[in-house]
Amino acid sequence: VGGHPKPQAEPLKPAGVKRILAIASGKGGVGKSTISSNLAVALARQGRRVGLLDADIYGPSQPRMMGAKGRPASPDGKTIEPLHAHGVTLMSIGFMLEEGKAVVWRGPMLMGALQQMLGQVNWGELDVLIVDLPPGTGDVQLTLCTKAELSGAIVVSTPQDVALLDARKALDMFNTLKTPVLGLIENMSFFTCPDCGGEHHIFGHGGVAAEAETLGLPLLGALPIDLETRLAGDSGTPVAAGEGPMAQAYARIAEGLVR
Ligand code: ADP
Repeated sequence: VGGHPKPQAEPLKPAGVKRILAIASGKGGVGKSTISSNLAVALARQGRRVGLLDADIYGPSQPRMMGAKGRPASPDGKTIEPLHAHGVTLMSIGFMLEEGKAVVWRGPMLMGALQQMLGQVNWGELDVLIVDLPPGTGDVQLTLCTKAELSGAIVVSTPQDVALLDARKALDMFNTLKTPVLGLIENMSFFTCPDCGGEHHIFGHGGVAAEAETLGLPLLGALPIDLETRLAGDSGTPVAAGEGPMAQAYARIAEGLVR
């Protein structure tokens, strides 16, 4: 009686999940979802038990990128059965919404949805759960960082100044919340012209590598602007599921992530 601390609010990390890795970006459209799906597929191909949680509440793109449709079943009305695609266990807020409808939610509803996707989904035993975060530094990031025991975060940026500026804010947030940042990935790093073979730095050059160096963080990869990547994402079979150079690039990044 007295003196006992109040029971903590339930932690959000599912029991069978060994580690949660968040993929973050400061800005939208830099390739965070593309990289999330491809890393998930690459890890699964390396024999890892992988889950992918699409927490990009405002623009869930994993149903399309992973080619998974339908509503997850809930036979007992409590637990939600995730979907499976390309060897990855998958849950997206997009499964609960009609495609093309905007999400206009207040904070508490958002948190409820996030809590459901972590706590009520039957994730099973996973070596790693990849979380595709919304861009920016909002409620979802805050809740996940403080309650879900993230093992680490990866920040995706293009070399463009505006993207880097926002990426810095995301990095600062993880620092403040004491979430370890595993490294940075530069996406849309360069474009190899199919006609002349020349390398073009459409969004600038070297910005993310310089940022990584300044912060003492690893640059986990520099991925080109690549037509196959875009087409594969739109078709529902991530490029990492194939055999080309991009599949190899993702495999290399994935190898270093889960040891
Ligand atoms: P975010 O999750 O950061 O909003 P997406 O992953 O949805 O970004 O990517 C935005 C768009 O850019 C998508 O159409 C995607 O197919 C495309 N894209 C992402 N990365 C690349 C790349 N390296 N090369 C070509 N297109 C890409």
